[in-house]
Amino acid sequence: MFCGANDYNNDEGYKLEIFGMTEDCLREAVSKLGLSAFRRRQIVRWLYKADVWDFAAMTDIAAKDAALLREKFTVLPARANILGRKLSKDGLAAKLLVGLPDGQAIEAVGLRHDYGYSVCVSSQAGCAMGCAFCASAAHGLIRNLTAAEMLAQAALLKKHFIGGANISNVVVMGSGEPLLNYEQLIMFLRLLHDPAVYNIGFRNMTVSTCGIIPGINRLAAEKIPVTLAVSLHAPEDGLRGELMPVNRKYKIAGVVEAAARYAEITGRRVTYEYLLIKDVNDGARTAEKLAKLLQSTLCAVNIIPVNPIKGKSWQKPGKKRTEKFVAALLANGVTATVRKEMGSDIQAACGQLRARYISSQARL
Ligand code: SF4
Repeated sequence: MFCGANDYNNDEGYKLEIFGMTEDCLREAVSKLGLSAFRRRQIVRWLYKADVWDFAAMTDIAAKDAALLREKFTVLPARANILGRKLSKDGLAAKLLVGLPDGQAIEAVGLRHDYGYSVCVSSQAGCAMGCAFCASAAHGLIRNLTAAEMLAQAALLKKHFIGGANISNVVVMGSGEPLLNYEQLIMFLRLLHDPAVYNIGFRNMTVSTCGIIPGINRLAAEKIPVTLAVSLHAPEDGLRGELMPVNRKYKIAGVVEAAARYAEITGRRVTYEYLLIKDVNDGARTAEKLAKLLQSTLCAVNIIPVNPIKGKSWQKPGKKRTEKFVAALLANGVTATVRKEMGSDIQAACGQLRARYISSQARL
C-alpha cells in the first residue's frame, strides 16, 4: 500500500511517520500493533484536534500503548524546529520558518481575517521557476515536500499562532510550484478535507501556480472545487517572459485557456495574481490588453502593488495610478481588486525569511 504522506526517510531508521498518514495506512499500521480502532480514533483526535504530538501526553492512552506507539512512530511537527518566528505589529499576521528533520527550512504564514484564520504553506523547499520578483527562486529547487510536511506547516501555525482554533482557509502559495509536486499536493488537500483531520472544505483551499498547463488540466480532472490562482503579472508574452521564465514554455494564451477550462469544469472563479510595477506593467494600454485577454472568462484579478525587492529598482505605483489600472479593468468587464496589505512588516511575501536564513547559514 502506498502511504505517500508517510513516504519520508526519517532519521530514526525503521520508525514510520504517523503525521499525515492516510486513513487506510493508519488503520493497517495501528492494527498491526494490536491496537483497536478506538485507539486509532483517539490518536487521530490528539494529533489533529488537540495538536498534541507526544504520545506520552495523550492522557487517555494507556502508558504501555503510548510506549509502543513511541517505539514505532515519529510525529513530524514534534520533530520540526521553529527556526524563526515573526508576528506583525498589529498581531494579524505571523510567519514561521520551519526547520525540517533533514535540515531544510521552509516558510509558512498565518493571517487573521474577520471570517477566521487562513494559512499559506510552501509546497517545495526552494523553487526552480526563477520568477524575477521572488525570493524563493534565489537558491533554486532543493526538493519537493511531502504531504505530511505541508500539513505540518498548517499544524504548527494552528498551534503557535491560532491557539488551536480551526483553520478556515488554506492557500498553497508559499515557496515552490505546487503543480510540479502534484501527488503530494493532492494528498495534502484531501488530508485537509478529511473530517478527522482539519475538515476544511475544498472551496476554502487555493492552489497557486505560475501557469503549469498540464498541472492545471490534471487538477481540473480531479473535480474538487479548489480555487485556482494563476500568477500572471503581464498580458504579453515578451514582458511576462522577462518576469517569469516559465512563460517560455507555457505561453499566456495557453495558460488562460487552461484556466478558463478549469473554471468551466469546477464552476470556480479563477484568480489572476497581478503584481503591479510602476512603469513596467501598470500602463493604460497594458490594462486594456489584460482586460481583453480575460474578458470572457470566469475570473477576478488580484492587483498587488509591488513592495521593494532586494536587487530590483522596481517601484510601487502611486495610489491614483493603481486605481486607474483597476478602473480600466472594471470598465472592460473584468472584476479586479487591490489586495489588502497584511503582514508587510514581517515580510510576508514568499521566501524572504528563508532566503535570509540560507544566506546566514552560508556565512557560518
Ligand atoms: S513566485 Fe512561486 S513559482 Fe515563481 S519562483 Fe516564487 S515560488 Fe516559484
